Amino acid sequence: MERLTDHVQVQTRGRGGNHGIVTTSDGLVMIDTPYKPSEALRLREELAGAPPLRYMINTEPHADHWTGNGFFDAPVAAHEGVRRRMLGIDPAEHRARLARLGPGEGDLLEGYRLRPPTLIFTDQMTIHLGAHSFRLIHMPGHTPFQAAVVVEEEGVVFTSDNVFGGVRTWLQEADPEAWLRSLDAIRALGIDTLVPGHGSICNRAYLDTQAEVIREWVGTVREAIDRGLSREEAIEQLSDRPDRFPMASGQEGKAVEVARLNVANLWDFATRTGIHAPNPGDSGAS
Ligand SMILES: [Zn+2]
Repeated sequence: MERLTDHVQVQTRGRGGNHGIVTTSDGLVMIDTPYKPSEALRLREELAGAPPLRYMINTEPHADHWTGNGFFDAPVAAHEGVRRRMLGIDPAEHRARLARLGPGEGDLLEGYRLRPPTLIFTDQMTIHLGAHSFRLIHMPGHTPFQAAVVVEEEGVVFTSDNVFGGVRTWLQEADPEAWLRSLDAIRALGIDTLVPGHGSICNRAYLDTQAEVIREWVGTVREAIDRGLSREEAIEQLSDRPDRFPMASGQEGKAVEVARLNVANLWDFATRTGIHAPNPGDSGAS
């Protein structure tokens, strides 16, 4: 892990979402958890001599942010929708997906169980531990159930996948209008150090870039609709749309898939036929 501030360490190079550990005077808090079983177990070994883990927090319902919960022993806090989604997952299917993440990963799942959040909020909640406070704020956008986690004393906010730091943005079930409002809300926090859901640590100015990426995607799909393309034609024609950023680590080779999902969802959003809700446990869901 990489040290970000006196009390915050982050992992931004793993397979799946970023995660962080905050060391308080009364124990540790993990914000999002590793996706790959081998990476979760490695982190558990690294923490063997550390102060006890008191809480985990999940910033969103996609499995690459919460799979690692099951390798640790502490209560989990998240938005109500994250719990609901997780309870809807077939554990056997999830284990099968994890086994496909790499050779030997399936062998590491003995005794593994999903650990859904038990500390639930819908709008906002604060966890106090030692001298630190963790403010969890509902920020819909990338999914309806995103949370920003503000670590007040460190001047750091974990943004969830509402921010992709210099890597490809997934909009497979996004509400782009809510997302842009949430970016404004993150900006209004006045905090300059952002830990994105994927990619590199960034600053407040990057929120403008993230907003541009969302607007560009929406504009591209609207233009396809205006040109008279059908949904399927738009998905085909835009599947190799160039992007200013590369895929996140471990997602190489999924560029066409993510473009197709983005177009399908934005098409439906623009034509008001609804928002896609792919299986949140899908290993491709970022
Ligand atoms: Zn996500």
